[in-house]
Amino acid sequence: MVGIFNDLESYGHEQVVFFHDKESGLKAIIGIHSTVLGPALGGCRMWNYADEAAALRDVLRLSRGMTYKAAVAGLNLGGGKAVIIGDARTQKTDEMMAAFGRAVESVGGRYITAEDVGMSVKDIDLIRNFTKHAVGGSNEGGSGDPSVMTAFGVFQGMKAALKHVGLGGGSLEGLKVAVQGVGNVGYHLCSYLSAAGAKLIITDIYPKSVERIVQEFGAEVVSPDEIYSVECDVFAPCALGAILNNRTIPQLKCKIVAGSANNQLETDSDGAALQAKGIVYAPDYAINAGGLINVAAELDGYNPELVNQKVSKIYQTIEDILNRASSEGILPHQAADKLAEQRLDEVRKSANAPKSFQNPSSRNVGQTKSLVIAK
Ligand code: NAD
Repeated sequence: MVGIFNDLESYGHEQVVFFHDKESGLKAIIGIHSTVLGPALGGCRMWNYADEAAALRDVLRLSRGMTYKAAVAGLNLGGGKAVIIGDARTQKTDEMMAAFGRAVESVGGRYITAEDVGMSVKDIDLIRNFTKHAVGGSNEGGSGDPSVMTAFGVFQGMKAALKHVGLGGGSLEGLKVAVQGVGNVGYHLCSYLSAAGAKLIITDIYPKSVERIVQEFGAEVVSPDEIYSVECDVFAPCALGAILNNRTIPQLKCKIVAGSANNQLETDSDGAALQAKGIVYAPDYAINAGGLINVAAELDGYNPELVNQKVSKIYQTIEDILNRASSEGILPHQAADKLAEQRLDEVRKSANAPKSFQNPSSRNVGQTKSLVIAK
């Protein structure tokens, strides 16, 4: 961990806090990248990291990503993320979740937690007994499963990308969409696409998920390896990160890449490789922000209609990003980064900026209850 301030400087973090709870064995890191736009919201990931340096790297990378995602989505929220070191299936206990809730509470609302890999709605419900600063629970006012709104946002962004390349004339009727991964988001995306008349080509490593889509929407199925070379209008990655790389890009036969997966480009140069093939890329964190918009809505009292309106605006966001990329001669992911940085700079400079940190006690985020866990 020597040189940690170098990492904070290069990523641009405000604060990184390490937590240890002897009794429960909790080892957690909260990364607060930016509170320029508001309190830093981002999920907690529980993962069996190879070592502590890997956990730190992950929290720094993920929390910075949340700053950009919230900024482009037009939310008055900063970027944060937490990681818990350990195996979520074998090492997670109620005591550990309680200790994590106390850890979140101790940063006084600068960080608001939610689910991520290895954490469930049930965990958030438990955590909320120890902190006001947790969203995505199932209790009253909870926003529920975010994947429906993530898929709706991807659907909107995909339509904007189609318009950008002049395909479909505003309709998806008869267009071919190849969906990689038909889990939570992929399922709902297939539902929107099918209703709009698109032809679905799908893959998943989990046969039950594939069967469900085939039965409900009549999709064509290909193997996980074949999905890249499918002739289609849109390739929608909804499974894994880093799947746009020097092994997969040469295989692609699509005109657009637009899907929900996080960190789709393995390296920045893969963005250029897509462009060189004439493929338009809808940047991941801009098109998949529907889930964040959904969960963030809890902070102001969850209103599904308002969420729907905000997520619909992902169409406009993707349109703006792709237009900007074309007019400035830059890549779409660079245009998204510029949009985020511009908003952050404007708010930093503006006298009327949202306060970098609002007193969270004024927010209706849930009640802290005291709960004694039986040992
Ligand atoms: P999920 O786990 O429900 O679905 C992922 C699916 O991908 C699973 O069915 C899995 O079997 C499949 N899969 C895994 N490896 C595969 C492979 N090699 N080939 C084909 N299929 C494979 O996850 P999700 O919640 O639907 O999220 C999908 C992606 O979108 C993830 O990258 C996630 O980080 C991102 N994302 C999700 C949300 C959300 O609201 N859930 C929000 C933003 C981003």
